[in-house]
Amino acid sequence: MNAPILSVKGLKTHFRLSAGLLKKSAKVVHAVDGVSFDLMRGETLSIVGESGCGKSTVGRSILRLVQPTEGEVILDGRRVDNLSQAAFRPLRKQLQVVFQDPFSSLNPRMKVRDIIAEPIRNFGILASEREIAARTRELLAKVGLPSDAGDRFPHQFSGGQRQRIGIARALAAEPEIIICDEAVSALDVSVKAQIVNLLVDLQSELGLALLFISHDLAIVEHMTHRVAVMYLGSIVETATRRQLFATPKHPYTQALLSAVPVPNPDEKRERTILKGEVPSPISPPSGCRFHTRCPLAFDRCSVERPQLSDVGEGQMVACHLYIDTKVSATAGAVA
Ligand code: SF4
Repeated sequence: MNAPILSVKGLKTHFRLSAGLLKKSAKVVHAVDGVSFDLMRGETLSIVGESGCGKSTVGRSILRLVQPTEGEVILDGRRVDNLSQAAFRPLRKQLQVVFQDPFSSLNPRMKVRDIIAEPIRNFGILASEREIAARTRELLAKVGLPSDAGDRFPHQFSGGQRQRIGIARALAAEPEIIICDEAVSALDVSVKAQIVNLLVDLQSELGLALLFISHDLAIVEHMTHRVAVMYLGSIVETATRRQLFATPKHPYTQALLSAVPVPNPDEKRERTILKGEVPSPISPPSGCRFHTRCPLAFDRCSVERPQLSDVGEGQMVACHLYIDTKVSATAGAVA
């Protein structure tokens, strides 16, 4: 059996807020609070959820842009969350990122060819300047940009073109994983589709694993293999694309999907409007974190935190409704 290229086990990333002149630690933001998943080679796993659910912090914790508080990140069989930044730096070659805002993530003073050549030089992939120039032109062509694009600066490109430059820069390191952090969220609908198609093509050509962090379920439905749904720092459901979009189990997933526009005007979908606001990650609710907004909550939900459990064919759900159903179904069968 293939080993995952990336494993995240019990990841927690908490931020301490300091208060007052004495900088006494007062409150803790539970941005990520016990997240586990595997990413296989050549696979796309999408992490979805509302803004503030912690999905981007998961990506940043894996990249060590923020330091995880607890848990393990295992990259190609090697634990990396406890390495020093210096020891981790060479391993970043395997793990690249494309951010939401390509403009702020591209150095405005560098020509595009230098932006793309930077990782090639930094990771010592090629030594001769002639080879680096040829590789840069090849990468520009791979992401659908003309070879003279290398002579220009980032501000001379549209948002979609800048995102192509960001992808070329990520590919230049010859990674095995690309983390796409809301990589298409800021783009127009048609450009969004072009960039997603480019990522899918590159994945099948190069065998990349993609961790696709997004709030846009309509896009995710068209390009992912598996989905993990996050709410308030935790994963509440993981499923294959088919399972999630055909038979969503968790009440939060069902509410999210009910808000996705349907292309067919004759198809009616009943929208579930969630009550209230997402609670603060500084003082998350007891028990199931979704109980303050869940239309199906019952007594146990505010007391006991449900664990992710397999509800069939590998679909994992953290909800007492399914754990109870499973227990009673098993009890019925035994009786
Ligand atoms: Fe709703 Fe309870 Fe399930 Fe949480 S455990 S999703 S509150 S029914």
